[in-house]
Amino acid sequence: MSLLVLGGAGYIGSHMVDLLVQKNERVVVVDNLSRGHRAAVNENAVFYQGDVRDEEFMNRVFSEEDVEAVFHFCAYIQIPESLKKPNDYFDNNVGGLITLIKVMAKHHTNKLIFSSSAAVYGNPEEVPIKEDSAKNPINPYGLTKLMMEQMMAWNGPAYDINWIAFRYFNVAGAKADGSIGEDHRPESHLIPLVLQAATGERDHVDICGEDYNTPDGTNIRDYVHVVDLVEAHYLGLEYLRNGGKSDAFNLGSKKGYSVKEIVEATREVTGKPIPAVSAPRRGGDPDSLVADSSKVRSVLHWAPQYDDINEIIASAWNWVQKHPEGYKD
Ligand code: NAD
Repeated sequence: MSLLVLGGAGYIGSHMVDLLVQKNERVVVVDNLSRGHRAAVNENAVFYQGDVRDEEFMNRVFSEEDVEAVFHFCAYIQIPESLKKPNDYFDNNVGGLITLIKVMAKHHTNKLIFSSSAAVYGNPEEVPIKEDSAKNPINPYGLTKLMMEQMMAWNGPAYDINWIAFRYFNVAGAKADGSIGEDHRPESHLIPLVLQAATGERDHVDICGEDYNTPDGTNIRDYVHVVDLVEAHYLGLEYLRNGGKSDAFNLGSKKGYSVKEIVEATREVTGKPIPAVSAPRRGGDPDSLVADSSKVRSVLHWAPQYDDINEIIASAWNWVQKHPEGYKD
């Protein structure tokens, strides 16, 4: 049977595909390449170019492949863009899941592992954030992720689909050999933006808001290495294979770093000066997001290898140095 990775040409999806190939699984990728890169997909995976919202196309994929489980990474992901074009986010993210559930139900595929986000919590009432903390998204992106979790919760029992939602905090880093990594255009994530200022691709990094309710005034985020993150997804698959019940898990490191601390750590790792300039808030950014990740550690026995922010930045820097122009497509 096959494992279907939706959005497998994207940053996280390509690392998932790579891990599944290493585990000797049969891997099928669907991606419309709107934001991803064909070159990021491991050559041992079967690749279909198409849109998850296209029901006819998706039925064809499920008819040709015997799909045991689906990993869902295919979403639009940028908070600032979601504030400017909310309906694109409802259409692609929520719309994509509506089609997927119809197709999974029709073909009796009963395992779904879903990329959710800490953005479902909005401005948290308590930090570290637990899975049952209040969910009040403050941007359309976060709302789509919450809606999608709720859709899985209602549709799961009705169509016999067992699911896991992983609420990622900030994902960073790259495969150790630097063969795949993060190449978003435009980039909105902090570590790759700071690295662009290290290579000279941009002349400085913007510190967007210095008046947040945090010790140094800049946003605090919790960073998880992409290799550890996809390993958790594999543990999630094994959990569902063993009859585990549908559930949501935070995926974070339990430790927060401010924007200024990340810039300083990146200066240390790269040895570059990295000029930083004060800039206005972007909008839609909560003060502080740090995970309580004890549930995923105890239930799925997740044990991340990379808990040092310098190691995470160093792996992203290795990718950038080996691919100064990204995937070049
Ligand atoms: P990405 O943009 O690199 O990858 C998404 C992939 O999905 C792209 O290759 C894109 O072409 C594809 N895609 C988008 N819409 C599609 C559609 N309708 N049909 C087919 N393919 C489609 O994003 P990423 O950083 O790899 O994030 C993956 C998932 O993780 C997303 O769901 C995102 O919301 C979630 N997430 C990411 C982060 C992070 O820090 N990167 C944090 C929290 C949650």
